[in-house]
Amino acid sequence: MIQRDYLVIGAGIGGASVCEAIRKHDKRSTLTLVGAESLPPYKRWLLSKTFLREKKVVPKKLAHLDENWYRAHKIDARFATVVTQLNIDRRVAVLGNGESIEFKKACLAMGSRPVRPPVAGVGLGNVIYLRTMRDGFALREMAEHEKNVMVVGGGLLACETAASLRRTKLKVSIMHRHSMLLNRYLDPETGAWLTGYFAKNGVILLMDESLNGFEGKTVLRNVQTKSGNRVAAGLAVVACGAEPNLDLVRNTPLSGPLGSPVTEYLETEEKGIYAIGDLAFYPDRLMGGMRRQTHWENSRAQGLVAGANMTGKKRIRYEQLPYFWTEMFDLRLDFIGDFTLQPTRVDLRGSHAKKKFSARYYQGEKLRGILLSNATPKDIEAAKAQLRQALGK
Ligand SMILES: Cc1cc2nc3c(=O)[nH]c(=O)nc-3n(C[C@H](O)[C@H](O)[C@H](O)COP(=O)(O)OP(=O)(O)OC[C@H]3O[C@@H](n4cnc5c(N)ncnc54)[C@H](O)[C@@H]3O)c2cc1C
Repeated sequence: MIQRDYLVIGAGIGGASVCEAIRKHDKRSTLTLVGAESLPPYKRWLLSKTFLREKKVVPKKLAHLDENWYRAHKIDARFATVVTQLNIDRRVAVLGNGESIEFKKACLAMGSRPVRPPVAGVGLGNVIYLRTMRDGFALREMAEHEKNVMVVGGGLLACETAASLRRTKLKVSIMHRHSMLLNRYLDPETGAWLTGYFAKNGVILLMDESLNGFEGKTVLRNVQTKSGNRVAAGLAVVACGAEPNLDLVRNTPLSGPLGSPVTEYLETEEKGIYAIGDLAFYPDRLMGGMRRQTHWENSRAQGLVAGANMTGKKRIRYEQLPYFWTEMFDLRLDFIGDFTLQPTRVDLRGSHAKKKFSARYYQGEKLRGILLSNATPKDIEAAKAQLRQALGK
């Protein structure tokens, strides 16, 4: 049996960041990073953006750290390897190749996977879920040979993917069960403007429509809507949300309905076992309540905190404002704070038409979120400071 001080399960940005923090505070320990994907951690967020639009974006350009970094920092990095079982009591992980690793401390960084809608035809060729670089290559390749693409969903991933594909001159449709895009995050006025912006850019919008199924013998031919429409499409991208990869800890206290519950130090109720990133259900010390985020900066920052805490040399609370950004056409939107509830009041400055604005979202008198469009890094930092100040933190 292989013995290690630390085991990190999942080699996304979260897992990579845990390794960086462990090596910053503990250079001599033994550390294994296991990741199911064949590549070292990469900038997943690029997959729906430049990667889709430009063929010249190759895997090397996407790497978070050079592959040599892991070797240079004496990290036993095992890519294309799955942890198939985890014995929490004995602190043993079994790998897909049959090897076992006994560890002292571990971090769960398995991230999330696309939700598969329960309809016919979800497994047809040309029905793509965009999560990994492999999916990205498949989509980019297939998009070259198709004319009509249907994107199912109206959230961040759906909008980004539709915008990127549209910029390659494909005929792109979006099917969304709500009347506006990004309805989970935006106020009605901004949502209506964004939806109109997609239409203006030539995206065909099938709003208030739900997916009934995909038709085709081996590959997709048509997409069926619940209202009875059949839309011809040779390629579909399904972006209906992401669920945490909790299979390894299913039916244990490390798995909850909304993620893996952790303390403010990102430790699960099993001492020495941490959970981070898309997987973690953590207490939000700034905005209150428990939260699971599926965004890049959160996974990065949580990985750095958990890794430092795992070494025992630091004891840091996770205290970051919820934050994410998105890019579609010539827009970049930054979301700072909590957008889970519709605001009771919106303070809009600037103009939607000019694509440069900020919108402050209030719940009663309380500022809860700031949305910025095409802002500078300085604007973003200032907005973060303003929200912290408003929260008294
Ligand atoms: C196309 C796309 C675009 C995005 N764009 C943005 C954006 O613009 N802004 C933003 O803030 N966020 C964006 N995100 C979200 C962001 O990428 C994620 O929040 C982030 O990658 C989560 O990091 P993670 O390390 O927690 O999990 P992941 O990145 O999901 O990594 C987890 C890794 O663990 C592996 N794994 C799972 N189970 C096992 C196992 N049993 N054994 C071994 N390995 C395992 C998985 O294969 C995966 O490689 C985007 C996501 C996607 C898919």
